[in-house]
Amino acid sequence: MKRNRRVKIVATLGPASSEPDIIRRLFEAGADVFRINMSHASGDKLTELVRAIRKIEADMGRPIGILVDLQGPKLRVGEFTDERAELPEGSVFQFDVDKSPGNAQRVHLPHPEIFEAVEPGHSLILDDGKLRMTVREASKESITAEVVVGGPLASRKGISLPDTVLPFGAMTEKDRADLEQAVNLGADWIGLSFVQRGDDVAEARKLSRGRVAIMTKVEKPAAIEHLDAILEQSDGLMVARGDLGVEMPLESVPGLQKRITRACRNSGKPVVVATQMLESMISAPVPTRAEVSDVATAVYDGADAVMLSAESAAGQYPIEAVATMDSIAIEVERDENYGRIVHSQQITPEATGADAISAAAHNIAETLNLAAIVCYTGSGSTGQRAARERPRQPIVALTPIASTGRRLAVVWGLHCVLTSDAEDLDEMVDKACRIAYREGFASRGQRVIVSAGVPLGTPGATNMLRVAFVGENETENI
Ligand code: PEP
Repeated sequence: MKRNRRVKIVATLGPASSEPDIIRRLFEAGADVFRINMSHASGDKLTELVRAIRKIEADMGRPIGILVDLQGPKLRVGEFTDERAELPEGSVFQFDVDKSPGNAQRVHLPHPEIFEAVEPGHSLILDDGKLRMTVREASKESITAEVVVGGPLASRKGISLPDTVLPFGAMTEKDRADLEQAVNLGADWIGLSFVQRGDDVAEARKLSRGRVAIMTKVEKPAAIEHLDAILEQSDGLMVARGDLGVEMPLESVPGLQKRITRACRNSGKPVVVATQMLESMISAPVPTRAEVSDVATAVYDGADAVMLSAESAAGQYPIEAVATMDSIAIEVERDENYGRIVHSQQITPEATGADAISAAAHNIAETLNLAAIVCYTGSGSTGQRAARERPRQPIVALTPIASTGRRLAVVWGLHCVLTSDAEDLDEMVDKACRIAYREGFASRGQRVIVSAGVPLGTPGATNMLRVAFVGENETENI
């Protein structure tokens, strides 16, 4: 099975899409990576979903990526008597360490670290932006704030502090346990929520010990400030527009999306644009014009992947949402301006064999009008460097390592095939041609360009390019 687009689709699984038959249909409709959100899924559900995905992967014979999104330190207020209180605009409200149920004057805040870090003038955002307050006074035991935008506040609703650098990392005890389970189940990516600095990612990297790739969700102002350090420590980024749009002015989100996408493109690490892409499809079989335009913008920006959240997890039309994203992406990539727009960002090769070879492969494929670029990749790095070029020709990434193929499922333009390493150079070229033919990327008489590292199987040794004809023997089984 081959996709007719280069950008990838990430589909979140949830109550509307937990059954194996639905997951299979989501894959067939175009989902390349499945996301499991640990804010909602139990450990048992995670196990069940990963097993179902791996079964579909085996049946379909295509690598599928699994992204386990950790909840992170989501901050919540305590309980109210009667489950809620009405907080009028202009009133004064207090958060404190008293565990008794709250009312219209006060509520418990079960995060003592916040009292130490917050300062007068800082903003407090509650219930995903529905209520806003400004801190007037703060002590070790209470915070007094003025309600700027009022309304009802219910028990356990989220609280965000966009101006406050909080003195804790991005991982809670639950996240550590979820990470370990995700790794043991063979997940390919973990999503790291509410990261503030590079060190937060370093902690996750230490715990994961290379067993899973790290996708950092950019959703806090502090993360924007430390974007370079965070990107350096991460294997990929997600533009998590849901929380980003709560903590930053909404109108700044499109510009930040472009900035994050460009930074990832430049570094050759995958970037996923997420949240509310086809929001109205939660309850309607067709999207709005604005949503189509939003998905198209991410594709024109050269993002690696676009993501569905509630649309596929809890909506009434999960399959239609994936199919809609698929059609939008295909149409955008067919547009005569697409290539020009994507290549308006200048990408300079770094001084490495993989980059020099990838840039040369792209160049030669253009000059000779070749059918495909075929690259051998062990760790996945050469595949990513080839994708960084955003070539017009399809890229077939061959790897002997199943987890590499799965990780690369989120990377722009890579069609990954699991295959054993070749014995010698001739077999390697022969195999590359046969797989390009079998997978539908080249016909007989066409030429492909093959990149590899010689001696074969040596990590980081990409140093060879060969232009080869797809010949008579390509119908043989491999
Ligand atoms: C987001 O905030 O956009 C996001 C993807 O994270 P979550 O779904 O965990 O809120």
